[in-house]
Amino acid sequence: MGHLAPFCRLAVALSDRACDVSFITIQPTVSSAESRHVATLLAAFPRLRPLDFRLADFDPSAFASTDPFFLRFEAIRRSAHLLPALLAATSPPVSALVVDISLASAFLPVVSGVGLPCYLLFTASAAMLSLCAHFPAYIATRNTAGVGDVGIPGLRTVPKASIPLPLHDPNNLFTTQFVENGRILQKADGILINTFHALEQEALDALNGGKVVPGLPPVVAIGPLKPAMGCEGGSTLLWLDAQPARSVVYVSFGSRTAMSVDQMKELGSGLERSGCRFLWVVKSKVVDREEEVELEELLGEEYQERVKERGLVVKGWVEQEEILRHRAVSGFVSHCGWNSVTEAALHGVPILAWPRIGDQRVNADVMARGGLGIWVKEWSWEGEEKVVRGDEIGERVRELMEDEGLRASAARLGRETVKAVTVDGSSGKGLTEFIGKL
Ligand code: UDP
Ligand code: UDP
Repeated sequence: MGHLAPFCRLAVALSDRACDVSFITIQPTVSSAESRHVATLLAAFPRLRPLDFRLADFDPSAFASTDPFFLRFEAIRRSAHLLPALLAATSPPVSALVVDISLASAFLPVVSGVGLPCYLLFTASAAMLSLCAHFPAYIATRNTAGVGDVGIPGLRTVPKASIPLPLHDPNNLFTTQFVENGRILQKADGILINTFHALEQEALDALNGGKVVPGLPPVVAIGPLKPAMGCEGGSTLLWLDAQPARSVVYVSFGSRTAMSVDQMKELGSGLERSGCRFLWVVKSKVVDREEEVELEELLGEEYQERVKERGLVVKGWVEQEEILRHRAVSGFVSHCGWNSVTEAALHGVPILAWPRIGDQRVNADVMARGGLGIWVKEWSWEGEEKVVRGDEIGERVRELMEDEGLRASAARLGRETVKAVTVDGSSGKGLTEFIGKL
C-alpha cells in the first residue's frame, strides 16, 4: 500500500490537471487492501483508463526470499518484456510512463526502447532516495566487509542500525533489486518524489546539487500527494466523533508490518497504563488475507471489555487519513512508513516513532529532525527478539500526548506542509513543472 497509495494519488492529481491518465493494474494483488483500493479508485474516477497487465509465469520457489511483496515486484520486473505490447494497444497512444522505483532497472530500458520518456515516482523519503542512489557505489567498495555505517556524500551518515535488514545480505532478492535500481537512476527522465522542501530541504539539495551521485535527473518534490478517495465514515469514525477533542492516540504499523503476539500484549498493556484514550489497529500477519485469529485470542478474553471506556481496538483496514484529520486525534504511534509520516505532517499530528522494518528508521530520523515527533531508538527492530515492555510504552505514550512543545512544532510543520501542496507552494510548483514536461 505504501507504493500503491501514492500512485493512485498521483494519477488523480494528474487527471485533475487535465492529463489523460492510464493506470496499469496487476491482478491478482498480494493483499485484499490493494485490490479494494484499486477497485475503489477506478469506480470513483472513471476517467482513469485501466490497463490490465498480465504477468508472465513466475516461480517464487526459485528465490530464497519469502517476502510476498518483494516476490511480486520481482514477478512484475520479469514481465517487463510484455509492456510494449500493452502500450501499443493503448489508444490514445501513451506519451510517457511513471514507474515505481522497485521496477526501475527492468522497465527503464524497455520504455526507452519504444521511444517514450520514463519518469520514476519515489514513494519514500529523499533521505531514502539518497541511500538508494549511493548504495551501489558504497557496496562496490566493501568486498567482504559487509554493510556498516553508510556516509552519504553531501548529506549525513546512515548508521548501520538504520540500514534495512535485507541490505546486509548481498544475496537477498531485495538487495539485488535495490542495487540495480540505484544504478539506473541516472537514466530516468526525471524523479518525482513524495516529499516536500520544508521537511527535506537538505536531502533534496544534495540530490539535485550532484553531491550524492553526479548526473541524476531532476528530483522534483511533489508531496505529500493528496488522498484521492473519501470514505463513508464507518464505526471507527463514529467512535472518534464521541471522544473529546485532542484526546486520542492512534496506533498503527501500516499495511505490511506485523507484530508478534507477545509484543502485542505488551503494547496493549502499555496503552492501558498510559491512561490515554486510544484507537489501536492490530496487525498480526504481513498479508491481510492471512489474518485469521480473533482479537480475543490475540489479546486475551477480557482486554477489550476492560479498556472499552476509552480504547477501541480494531483488526483490519481503517481510513487512516480520516483518522489523522479527526479533531479527537492528537498523537500517532507509528512504524514510520513514509506515507504515514507525510500524512501525520499534513495534519500536524505528533508521532511516537516505533520503526520496525525496511526504510522506517531512515524515515523516523527525518521525522524527528523535522520536529514532528519522538523516536525511541532502543525499541526493537527487525531481526531482534527483544520485547519492549508495557510500562515503558505507556510512559512514552503519555509523554507524546502531554508534550505541548512537540504539539506546537508538529502544528508548525503541518502549516508548512499545507502551504507546500498549494498550487503556488513548492510541491504544487513541482507538479506543474512535471506536467509542463509532459
Ligand atoms: N493505511 C490505511 N489504513 C490502514 C493501514 C494503512 O489507510 O489500516 C494507509 C496509510 O494511510 C498509508 C498507507 O496505507 O497511506 C500505508 O503506507 P505507509 O508508507 O505508511 O506504510 P506501509 O504500509 O507501506 O508500511
Ligand atoms: N526501495 C528502493 N529501491 C528499490 C526498492 C525499494 O529504494 O529497488 C525503497 C522503497 O521505496 C522503500 C525502501 O526501499 O523506501 C524499503 O522498501 P520495502 O519494500 O521494504 O518497504 P516499503 O516500500 O513497503 O515501505
